[in-house]
Amino acid sequence: SPLLEIKNLQVSINENQILKNLNLTINKGEIHAIMGPNGSGKSTFSKVLAGHPAYSILGGDILFKGSSILDLEPEERSHLGIFLAFQYPVEIPGVSNEDFLRLAYNSKQKFYNKVEVDPIEFLTIITQKLQLVNMSARFLGRNVNEGFSGGEKKRNEILQMILLDSELSILDETDSGLDIDALKIISNGINNFMGPEKSIILITHYQRLLDYVNPNYVHVMQNGKIIKTGSAELAKELEAKGYEWLET
Ligand code: ADP
Ligand code: MG
Ligand code: MG
Repeated sequence: SPLLEIKNLQVSINENQILKNLNLTINKGEIHAIMGPNGSGKSTFSKVLAGHPAYSILGGDILFKGSSILDLEPEERSHLGIFLAFQYPVEIPGVSNEDFLRLAYNSKQKFYNKVEVDPIEFLTIITQKLQLVNMSARFLGRNVNEGFSGGEKKRNEILQMILLDSELSILDETDSGLDIDALKIISNGINNFMGPEKSIILITHYQRLLDYVNPNYVHVMQNGKIIKTGSAELAKELEAKGYEWLET
């Protein structure tokens, strides 16, 4: 079965229906880009996948590895292999990045009845991963995202994605506000992580990221549903023509 199957998903928040019959199927080893105008429901979709409690599911289903996850808590979804990097990464005062990452790692180890690692063992694990995103070890001692530049926050998200080794990662505008060097580092991190057992949903406004990370499919979301699906070429067409020509 596919890794992820979204079937006629309808979602509301505060009595406003945002997702209207969303359908999407993602197989292992695929990268799907989701583009679309502001307010079309892209971030809503990513938060609903991760299990954000503010949204009401009016209808439809989300199947992950063949089973519905609608009744699962965010933490359970994460343990099952769904990773969401938020559009606006949060700062966590008083918690070092190293402790935060180790807790997240050990929480998943525990879920799979694997041995939890101590701080020294964890340092070995995380040091290898840091290299994949060009991050210096001094980030580990700093509080989570506190005082991180935009680019550092985004690299930290990719670090989390790599560390947790989730089958499905959702990156919501991970490329926003990055300079070209940071964009290349992020893209290399994504490309090194990607493989036949992994799938990625890239939510992006810009074709630019897709010059470095090659999607198998590009979808356009508008008004809470996917109105067009194409290849990487579609992103170039959107960059040139905007979204209006697609309007239904
Ligand atoms: P995108 O990520 O595609 O820009 P969003 O998913 O953030 O779009 O937003 C989709 C729509 O949902 C927007 O019209 C937005 O105003 C609306 N929306 C988001 N959060 C709320 C909320 N808490 N209450 C009501 N409407 C909301
Ligand atoms: Mg937006
Ligand atoms: Mg958004």
